[in-house]
Amino acid sequence: MSNTPTSADATADSKTAENKPANFIETIIEQDIAEQKVAKVITRFPPEPNGFLHVGHAKSICLNFGLAEKFDGECNLRFDDTNPAKEEQAYVDAIKEDVQWLGFQWSGEVRYASDYFDQFYEWALYLIKESKAYVCELSPEQASEYRGWATSPGKDSPYRDRSVDDNLVLFEKMKSGELEEGACVLRAKIDMASPNMNMRDPILYRIRKASHHQTGDKWCIYPSYDFAHGQEDAIEGVTHSICTLEFADHRPLYDWFIDNLPVPAKPKQYEFGRLNLNYTVTSKRKLKQLVDDGIVEGWNDPRMPTISGMRRRGYSAQAVRNFCQSLAVAKTDGVVDMAQLEFFVRDDLNKNAPRAMAVLNPLKVVITNYPEDKVELLTAPAHPELDLGERSLPFTREIIIDQDDFREEYSGKFKKKLTPGKRVRLRNGYVIEADDYEKDDADNIVQVNASLIPNTLGTDPEDGVKPKGVVHWVSATHGKKATIRKYDRLFTHEAPDRGEEDFMQHLNPHSLTIIEECWIEPGLADAKPELCFQFEREGYFVADRYDHSSDHPVFNMTIGLRSQI
Ligand code: ATP
Ligand code: MG
Repeated sequence: MSNTPTSADATADSKTAENKPANFIETIIEQDIAEQKVAKVITRFPPEPNGFLHVGHAKSICLNFGLAEKFDGECNLRFDDTNPAKEEQAYVDAIKEDVQWLGFQWSGEVRYASDYFDQFYEWALYLIKESKAYVCELSPEQASEYRGWATSPGKDSPYRDRSVDDNLVLFEKMKSGELEEGACVLRAKIDMASPNMNMRDPILYRIRKASHHQTGDKWCIYPSYDFAHGQEDAIEGVTHSICTLEFADHRPLYDWFIDNLPVPAKPKQYEFGRLNLNYTVTSKRKLKQLVDDGIVEGWNDPRMPTISGMRRRGYSAQAVRNFCQSLAVAKTDGVVDMAQLEFFVRDDLNKNAPRAMAVLNPLKVVITNYPEDKVELLTAPAHPELDLGERSLPFTREIIIDQDDFREEYSGKFKKKLTPGKRVRLRNGYVIEADDYEKDDADNIVQVNASLIPNTLGTDPEDGVKPKGVVHWVSATHGKKATIRKYDRLFTHEAPDRGEEDFMQHLNPHSLTIIEECWIEPGLADAKPELCFQFEREGYFVADRYDHSSDHPVFNMTIGLRSQI
């Protein structure tokens, strides 16, 4: 795997789905259909419910469901739930929600590897009876010693030539709970000298006295992932089993099972490169560590590269799908630049997000020539191009602007700012001119006094002195206060888990900034959770899925207006 990120080629429209050439899997499927090898394309997305899905899974989901859509086939959602120790119902629920949010619907009911445990057990008996499986009592240490190394052959287990009857008795004892965890395992009898380590008598069943989230306490033996995976596909009639490259070495083993068992179909496996993004990690184990260690608020923290994190950050499902479609489906792993994902997020929001005004660093402006009780309802379009209706912007004597939009003294560099004696246009409103300002004891500017230039709604001042800049604002009496959370990258290193050091050493201590007491235009308080806005001149912000309410508005920054690079 390369450590250098590919450069962000994020501006080319050629990256959209319509005009992309077929990827190698599509080409294979087209051929299979042309040669009538398959009648109906069946794919599946097979997560293990041991964590939330991340952006890498999104690529796999888009690929598998996308192929089914393209070829008029079906895609199953199947949980590969063979390891009860690490799996939970909560992960099952989250994964289903994520797949649907991304915009896909699986064919029929959700499936589980555990639906097939009876069948796997029958097939284990079948292999034993065929003298192709045996119960082995080597300890894990001994077994690994017997396995040998990639460069040297292993040796046969002393238990390898047990009689079929002995094996049947022992396997029954494993199943009935008579034997303790770790006492023995069931192994396939293949080839201890194979250059492929996966073929050196792999484990088929282990004793695990754990409750399972689907099957409860029915079983105390569980099939290995390798013994289950290919057979699940065979049972479901999956025509194209698509997985990531690390399983290429397992393919001969999966094929061995398919060839040696009376399976109803013979699925074929194709591998493609994993998606890795720079400045983050895409491994459930590592993401779980961030959650367990309290580095983030949870799996759906907006800084996480999880699907639910991206959702909470304000990325739309369409943007995530566009990104996934822009990626090559190749036979090598690669690292994609975060900017490529951000391009699709920004592009989508620029086209679709309603506009609004919010002030992050408030500074009060008193318009001294405007009556104290007067409220004028100004209006502005919710979107410059789309017909999203109008916003109502109450204008009052006291308003709030951003501290950064005021300067004590005029300078050429800051000619667009409000300065005593100079004018700015209030966005969607009047032109004002600053007269003077007030400071507190700590020398902070706490108030600007200004005058409204009359008759300047939508037109230039009659005296011909035009404002140079436009500033956003909110009424200090009708606006609402809000909490705004800004995010930075979770890691300071572009390849946090691909170097010598532990990835946790590269955490960015400043990845979250919470700004209380921001000001938002009044209508924003009633925004529906998960609705994303462009706060004019500030960036894109989403009403938090969980914490936002009209009494306590909370917005998460999705992304800035422009790329930083
Ligand atoms: P992790 O290493 O994050 O735990 P995993 O491969 O163990 O991932 P699974 O739940 O087994 O996670 O994955 C479900 C499917 O998603 C598999 O087919 C897997 O190949 C695919 N997948 C997982 N990670 C990626 C990735 N980074 N890019 C593309 N596909 C992925
Ligand atoms: Mg896995």
